[in-house]
Amino acid sequence: MICHAPVWHGRLALMEKLLISACLLGQPVRYDGGAKTLHDATLERWRREGRLVAACPEVQAGLSTPRPPAEIQDGGGDGVLDGTARVIDRDGEDVSQSFLSGAKQALVLCQRHHIRVAILSEASPSCGSHTLYDGSFTGHRVPGQGVTAALLERHGVRVLVSSNSIKRSERYKRDGRDHRRHCAYISEGLWSNKVWRPTT
Ligand code: SF4
Repeated sequence: MICHAPVWHGRLALMEKLLISACLLGQPVRYDGGAKTLHDATLERWRREGRLVAACPEVQAGLSTPRPPAEIQDGGGDGVLDGTARVIDRDGEDVSQSFLSGAKQALVLCQRHHIRVAILSEASPSCGSHTLYDGSFTGHRVPGQGVTAALLERHGVRVLVSSNSIKRSERYKRDGRDHRRHCAYISEGLWSNKVWRPTT
């Protein structure tokens, strides 16, 4: 599936932009103060073209770096949006409101820049789009979406994951074909031609 309709603003077609998790661009915003730099030629070209809008929902919500790791309990990002699940950090603090605030700020960025595609870092309670840690802080992953990924998808932003780890996830094995209609995974050489190709 290729999405390549230009974004029109008045009579001018604007260069289409993407939202991207700031940690994937090398920004040291992760809970442990590190980054998760994604090396990819296409990504680098988009960066040079000024297409990438970086966002870290957790930092934008005012959380510090480093910060205690957090996981979603009793559900996933949709549950947090609906008030049936909570984001709890390792110290036991309920940080759901911060995660909701960060997600809303990411959505505002998408709307401001007419963004239809987001490249998000997998397994994060904010950015994860296929897998999450299960809330036990034991390193066990389960299928699910983070709060930001869930909110963006509710508003029509297509979320792409940053690695092909999804191939190994239980969710992919179970309903990967269906899920890929909405969330294609990215690996080098794949995303520019088969997943999404901007035309402007
Ligand atoms: S909230 Fe998203 S952008 Fe920020 S560190 Fe976590 S995965 Fe990266």
